[in-house]
Amino acid sequence: MDLLRSVRQTTDETEFYTPLPEGYQLGRVKYVAVFGTVISGLGKGIFSSSLAKLMKDKGLAVSPIKLEGYLNLDAGTLNPYRHGEVFVLDDGMETDMDLGTYERMLDQDLTRDNFATSGQVYHSVLEKERAGDYLGRDVQMIPHVTGEVKLRLRELAMRSGAEVVFVEVGGTVGDFENAFYIEALRELRYEEGPGSVAVVALTYVLSPPALGEQKSKAAQLGIKRLMELGLQPDLIACRAEQPVTDKVRQKISVYTNVPMRRVFSMHDLPSIYLLPEQMRHAGLDSEMVQLLGLGGQVNSLADARAAAGWQEFTTRITGANKSTTIGITGKYTTLRDSYASIVKALEHAGAANDARVDIKWIDTTGVDELNVSEALAGLDGIIVPGGFGVRGTAGKIACIRHARENGLPYLGICLGFQMAVVEYARNVCRLEGADSTEITPDCEHPVVDVLPEQKEIEGLGGNMRLGGQDVTLAAGTQAAEMFGGDKTVRMRFRHRYEVDPRYVERLEQAGLIFSGRHPTQPIMQILELPADVHPFFVATQAHPCLTSRPLRPQPMFVRLVAAAVR
Ligand code: GLN
Repeated sequence: MDLLRSVRQTTDETEFYTPLPEGYQLGRVKYVAVFGTVISGLGKGIFSSSLAKLMKDKGLAVSPIKLEGYLNLDAGTLNPYRHGEVFVLDDGMETDMDLGTYERMLDQDLTRDNFATSGQVYHSVLEKERAGDYLGRDVQMIPHVTGEVKLRLRELAMRSGAEVVFVEVGGTVGDFENAFYIEALRELRYEEGPGSVAVVALTYVLSPPALGEQKSKAAQLGIKRLMELGLQPDLIACRAEQPVTDKVRQKISVYTNVPMRRVFSMHDLPSIYLLPEQMRHAGLDSEMVQLLGLGGQVNSLADARAAAGWQEFTTRITGANKSTTIGITGKYTTLRDSYASIVKALEHAGAANDARVDIKWIDTTGVDELNVSEALAGLDGIIVPGGFGVRGTAGKIACIRHARENGLPYLGICLGFQMAVVEYARNVCRLEGADSTEITPDCEHPVVDVLPEQKEIEGLGGNMRLGGQDVTLAAGTQAAEMFGGDKTVRMRFRHRYEVDPRYVERLEQAGLIFSGRHPTQPIMQILELPADVHPFFVATQAHPCLTSRPLRPQPMFVRLVAAAVR
């Protein structure tokens, strides 16, 4: 077939346009495409990452990709209170929080190849158009834009060496924004040939309280929409509050040509970490292996070992013997999604300490020196997380002072690190006009200021220090000890301001220890108070929550929770 060779350029001789990466063989890599129907917010990322994890457990190399409908080139300019936290990858890419779910579930670092937006796709197409790559042809949604989408998926497969690529299409089937992604996956499925692309539809089973029973119609209609677009699902996951009844699963099966054993009840669970076990139990992993013809590549021994290790973790998550309460300060603190990684890191650290961690959100806008002990009453530890702007910072500083003076375990993250420096400068070094220039541009003692090398760069989204960096740990400090005696540790950053090196000596003379620094530059990355002065007072310019994994909890969080439990 003509189609089965790479057509990198549209010419007058052919209508085909199938740009394949160098050395790519059609039908060799497997793809799992995951779509959402009926409503958004179904947990496609959780489903897809859990299934990917089960494939990885079997010894298969996997790589996920999230296809976002929005036009932004990355998630860096998105408001976290509207869209959830901005998740920063090691290579500095600012992505949707779902990439965090994938990194945690798979215990695998991802790159910018694992994240695409409509904006990026159009950007590449327009660049190619300007470069004359389309040889005088009118550039069209099909085949050029869809061709670009397929190219990205195949490039990901080549670069990551994945045997199975998990493609999560953002939004809901029927959205305007993601229609070309759905079309691209239809084309991909045809081109790669039978048994290469499995289509998964997530749907929602309603259960109106007035009726007292589950209804499948919305789910049927949602999946029908996908079928109208030329994609017959191979597997269906039904989100629901309660386990989906056999009757409803049968109905969905009848209307969609999907056998019952591939219609899965994905009902609410006490923890998302229970989902992989639930899927395994329902046989979903073996159904996927069968669909993609991967039986010969499964390593059953590795699979059993991974399952046992995971079960040990989930037992600790759901059956902890101790409990502790950690306060997290921040604005609009009702939105847990804007601090998703911190919540997750506390979960992992709790499991490591056999403790359930209860989180209390503290809005610091009304907090001051007078009411701070009231605001922090009943807490076993506090976190001041990352943030931007002035709002609530005075309250945060009051909280940090209270924690420092009263032996309350403290972990400062990014802005929480900077505020700890300001607090120490003001109240211990007696530098009354100490502040961050982000808050008071013309303050007397700018202990936190814009990075010198960043000063020239202008424009939102382009002037932050982003991504993974090595941090050199000072021997004999808690930081060095908690990372197992390693001399350097890799952490992820997203900031614009830093500690002004001119104040470092003064702060250290007053007892603050900078235990982590940039390997060559005078950039302060971790601070701490000695263990004989405070049970746990540690802060970092990095975002340690981004690299916490269920089976490899991040040490700063583990120590914070341990100190809080004590
Ligand atoms: N606003 C501070 C800065 O830009 C902290 C950033 C953050 O907490 N992510 O440096």
